[in-house]
Amino acid sequence: MTFFDAMQRLSRSSTSPLLIGGLELSHPERVEPFFQQSTDAVFFFNHLGEIVYFNENLPRMLGYSEDTLYNHFAVFSPPEQNDSVTTFFERALAGETVHYTAQGLHIDQHRLTLKITNMPIEQEGQVVGVYGIARDITREKQLEEDVVQIRSQLELTEQIPELVVFHYDPQARTIEYSPSLINYLGLGPEQLKELSNEQLHKRIHPRDFDPLRFQVIRLLDGEIETFEQEVSVLNANHQYQLLRLKALRRDDQSGLISLILYDLSEVSEARRQLTLEREQTREIYEALDAAISQIDLSTGRLLFHSKGFFQIFEELPEDLVLSEEWLFERLDPRDVPAMKQFIRRLTSGKSSTIQYRLLFPDGRCKWIEDQQIPVFQLDGSIAYTNSIMHDITLQKEYEERLQQLAMHDSVTGLPNRISLTETIKDWMQTNTTFSILSISFNRISEINNAFGHASGDQWIQATSALLYTSKPDEVFFGHLGGDEYAMLIPSCFKQDVTSCAEALLTLSAAPILIEPYALFARVSIGISRFPDDSHDPIELMKHSYTALRRSRREDHSAVHHYASNLDIDYYRRYRLEQDLHYAIERNQLFLEYQPKVDSWTGKIIGLEALIRWQHPEWGRIPPNDFIPLAEESALHIAIGDWVVETACQAMVNWSRAGAELVPISVNVSPKRFLIPGFEHQIEQALTTYKLSADLLELEITEAALIMDDPNISRTLEHLSQLGVRIALDDFGKGYSSMVYLQRYPINVVKIDRQFATHIAEDRKAQAIVKSILYMATEFNLAVIAEGIETLQQLEMFRSLNCPNIQGYLFSRPVSAEVMESFLLREVLYPIEACSLASDTVPSFSVPGKIKMLKHQNQALDFSFSNIQAHRTSTRHLYFTTKTPLPLQTATFEVRLTEGNQMVSCTLSIIAIEQGQYVGKYATVQEAELVLRFFQSLRYTE
Ligand code: C2E
Ligand code: MG
Ligand code: MG
Repeated sequence: MTFFDAMQRLSRSSTSPLLIGGLELSHPERVEPFFQQSTDAVFFFNHLGEIVYFNENLPRMLGYSEDTLYNHFAVFSPPEQNDSVTTFFERALAGETVHYTAQGLHIDQHRLTLKITNMPIEQEGQVVGVYGIARDITREKQLEEDVVQIRSQLELTEQIPELVVFHYDPQARTIEYSPSLINYLGLGPEQLKELSNEQLHKRIHPRDFDPLRFQVIRLLDGEIETFEQEVSVLNANHQYQLLRLKALRRDDQSGLISLILYDLSEVSEARRQLTLEREQTREIYEALDAAISQIDLSTGRLLFHSKGFFQIFEELPEDLVLSEEWLFERLDPRDVPAMKQFIRRLTSGKSSTIQYRLLFPDGRCKWIEDQQIPVFQLDGSIAYTNSIMHDITLQKEYEERLQQLAMHDSVTGLPNRISLTETIKDWMQTNTTFSILSISFNRISEINNAFGHASGDQWIQATSALLYTSKPDEVFFGHLGGDEYAMLIPSCFKQDVTSCAEALLTLSAAPILIEPYALFARVSIGISRFPDDSHDPIELMKHSYTALRRSRREDHSAVHHYASNLDIDYYRRYRLEQDLHYAIERNQLFLEYQPKVDSWTGKIIGLEALIRWQHPEWGRIPPNDFIPLAEESALHIAIGDWVVETACQAMVNWSRAGAELVPISVNVSPKRFLIPGFEHQIEQALTTYKLSADLLELEITEAALIMDDPNISRTLEHLSQLGVRIALDDFGKGYSSMVYLQRYPINVVKIDRQFATHIAEDRKAQAIVKSILYMATEFNLAVIAEGIETLQQLEMFRSLNCPNIQGYLFSRPVSAEVMESFLLREVLYPIEACSLASDTVPSFSVPGKIKMLKHQNQALDFSFSNIQAHRTSTRHLYFTTKTPLPLQTATFEVRLTEGNQMVSCTLSIIAIEQGQYVGKYATVQEAELVLRFFQSLRYTE
């Protein structure tokens, strides 16, 4: 449609011109170019709103073909704007010129922002159409919006100092940035303005720069729409700070890009912290000797392992799978069962710890402790186990050494008492029967006192070595302490235990070296047996020791088997210790006297006072049983003084009776010399009883001299000067040191009884006696042999030229009265001790056992001791036993057995008659039972 046609359409009269805002459109040919040349789109609507004319800008703007444009304006505006556009149109129809902005629809449906002006087209005062001009302000509008957005973003970023926003316009090559950059870079606004791009680039960490530039270029080239990256940027403190950068393209045409940087320092700090902690943990793991690992139990796979793991195993399974095969190959076979159990426990979900040995090809062995803790999944199944392994080899070695120390004696290196007890326990499990030998050399305390503990140690080492070389191989050998040892002898042992013990006794003949001395020792042995004597290890050891004590009490090497009566022995010893305190005041002590005679003539040349204790309950107690008890307290002083007094008194009495006095000797406890004033006591006694000093002889043993106390030699010198004679008793039993004979004022040597016992058959004994006699002549000493019992022994001593004799052959120790008669007789004749005892040996005996139930109203729990019952009456049972029993004050249970008959009764002992205990039955009924038992035996005989 041409301009002219359009005018025609609008015109309502042919005469009056059309007017737009007072402009007359009367010459269309002149007006049209004005519309056509406009830079805006120009168009005319009829009064219905249909486009009737447009210039060429309108199709360019809206993209429609020219034909399509002759349409209602609603076709070209978005539906939601129809109303408002219609309102403006109607206002123009009403004669108003209106300006508004509305959106137009492009043919491709994108929206254009149009700035529109509508003016009425009038004719003859009436509006006939509407004139429209539209300018596309889409781009301006967009820019404006962008500016608003940027403004608001900038405003926003000002509030958030952690954010730095850049807008880069590649066309203008300008960068717009948020003010937070000022803070960030530590520059003033002026400095910032002067900041060149290059300077800005330098702020970026070189490491990050190239990757960043690469990405930015891609963004600018439109290859990517956005990217994110971390960059380190020098901050106000000249430190690199890690920032997160987010970049995006603003708009396709402008190519504007925005970069937003935000501070990651908190995140990075947290990250750094985490890394640090991880590293620290790792470091700790690696620094630990422990091996930390995580193991998938189902596959055995090592999920994680620290360096320590490798250090322990020294290799890793190739596939990192800890298979049982791999593990067991390296495990000590002894630990395999424990390991299997350990794995079973773990797989059942229980934490567990195990210690095992790893063996290495070069023969090394490591002890490992492995603690594993299963970690569960939510469903309760085991995810993996955490394992902590330690190499505990050193600890184990240390433990073993401690064990060794704890279980072995430090001087001898032998297993000690604890170890013995453990071994006894073991043997009880495996050996059916075995014996325990307790062995003692009996001299350690003497040696410690005399030579000091270093020599004591030498003694212990020497005695242990001696036993070690003499013991049979099958024997377990241990150290009880001091010079006491123990041996465990299995009963399968080819030699009998007793003969083994007897062989050990011969060690008493072996000289033991402790430089410069070669000493001899008495060997005492006690034996207990499993299972006869006890089922308890400690008790079994105690029993063998109790038997040892009994052996020790003998004055020669001896073996004793444990017997339950040793319990009573111990009890007796304890009671005697108590009662000894009252022995003097209750007149229970008395002296017996034994003559010493000339070997050839039998003339009494002296006598020895020997003490006895008549105990109201326990009968006569020999001095060897109670003198050691007295020496344990100060009692021995009073007793010693009493002996001297009593002996002197006896001398006075005998003298009064007309006897020719011979020197009397008294035994003096070694300890007595340690108490000052002993010599005055003696001097006093001599004065009191008006006895010449040469009538008194003091018998001392080497034990006194060994103490090497200055008091002792001073006292001996003093006594010697008084004229009192000093005799060295039991010579040859101990060290037999010649030194003492030289150093101390000794007048007499008494040859120990053991030489008399062996002299007939033992050439060595003969040689020793010979040399003692030779030496005595050299030192000008008197000599006397003790313990001569037989004529044969007498003959031997005579042949060796031993001048004096003391022994049962001439007389046993006798009472003062008998001694008086001897003294009056002056001469004694040898009478072989043909046993008076044989008369008293009962012709009949039944074996039985006795047990003390009560003593002095106190209930006791002893075991049974053996007895032999000889006869019974309606009231009394007569029996003998090796066990000393108390009279009157105790109640006993007696059991007699013969074949399968047994009878039991209760009794108390009322007397000893001819060496037999007389037990009184508690009830008539019991007496009758025993009587009948005896009768049945006689009957069966
Ligand atoms: P000892 O001084 O060597 O006394 C000799 C011991 O041998 C006496 O034993 C005596 O009875 C005994 N004996 C003498 N001849 C023979 C013999 O032919 N064969 C046998 N088998 N033995 C014989 P006893 O009386 O039992 O005294 C033992 C020890 O007790 C004495 O040995 C002495 O060391 C000590 N002792 C005795 N009385 C006293 C004392 O009053 N004070 C002190 N401190 N000790 C005393
Ligand atoms: Mg004596
Ligand atoms: Mg003696």
